[in-house]
Amino acid sequence: MTERDLIEQIRQLVCHQGKGLVQGIGDDCAVVEKDGRHVWLLTMDTLIESVHFDCSWHPPFLLGRKTVSVNASDIAAMGGRPVFALLSLGLPADFSPEWVTELNRGIYDACGQYGCLLIGGDTVCSPGKIALTLTLIGEAARDQVLYRHGAAAGDIIWVSGALGYAAAGLDYFRSGRTLAVQSEYPAEISRCIKAHLDPEARVGLAGTLARTGAVHAMMDISDGLATDLSHLCRQSHVAAVIDEEKLPGRQELAPAASLLGLSGKEITGWMIAGGEDYELLFTASPKDCHIIQAAASEHGVAVTPVGKILEGQGVHLRRKTACGYEDERISFQGFDHFIKS
Ligand code: ADP
Ligand code: MG
Repeated sequence: MTERDLIEQIRQLVCHQGKGLVQGIGDDCAVVEKDGRHVWLLTMDTLIESVHFDCSWHPPFLLGRKTVSVNASDIAAMGGRPVFALLSLGLPADFSPEWVTELNRGIYDACGQYGCLLIGGDTVCSPGKIALTLTLIGEAARDQVLYRHGAAAGDIIWVSGALGYAAAGLDYFRSGRTLAVQSEYPAEISRCIKAHLDPEARVGLAGTLARTGAVHAMMDISDGLATDLSHLCRQSHVAAVIDEEKLPGRQELAPAASLLGLSGKEITGWMIAGGEDYELLFTASPKDCHIIQAAASEHGVAVTPVGKILEGQGVHLRRKTACGYEDERISFQGFDHFIKS
């Protein structure tokens, strides 16, 4: 059973109405009525040692920051801003107090950056690995919340920033290289390392995009474009085609690929299935391109049109070949916890 099947099974079991619930299981956050004009956004993400992070290369301060950022990214995905955080710390009995102090400093630092308060949590002994779970509560204007559903045939598909950096950064460390020598490498490699160790949630840009009213559907990219766009399409009852040549970041990834002895095909793999990009994925009408570009330039963040929403089902990658173009189906090819790659 895959992670997706398991979540769907839970979704079918539970009630989706009452107590001011606006959106239950299935989007980046749950949405609950706050007052007449505003809603609460609720999300939770867990980072497990040896699955999401490796203590041998992840400095605890940056891991603390990442614990907050990955959750802030889900609040951003709905167009909201973080307000409160709750932290669950699962630590082995022989934990290092210095390590945990640095972790907590990182959590505090990121909470300050995103403007949220850590208001509670839980601290437990774990018989095995370190487990970090953060619950983040955000808020948004009710009429500005952006959902995964809402994409329409004809929409342009946009992504913020660049794709694949975090996957390249992870492969850099998995190859046995260490953080200490990063200054010997070009800026492109340092950017990949930063994307893996200390990603930044696009909270500011997301809020501005939500206020434009031009965005039809939005989510963040945590499991890779192939999987996350598949979620967006399924929930909007549409299909999508992505243009391989337009994926942002390919040239910047070339030095990392050559350092690791990888090819162009593997660069595409990083970009569509690597995961942990924490960029925004959203759709808007072609007539509103200038509105999207203006919102992005307010924040100094690049946004790139990478494809188109179509009628039908499924996500395809269009790549250039010697004799034209070929389309490859890439639906749900990104990260799933219960599918071994
Ligand atoms: P994201 O990648 O944006 O964090 P997930 O893929 O983790 O989203 O989750 C997708 C949806 O399923 C979210 O609405 C999330 O709250 C819900 N979900 C995930 N796991 C569970 C669970 N064990 N019980 C209830 N809901 C869950
Ligand atoms: Mg998400």
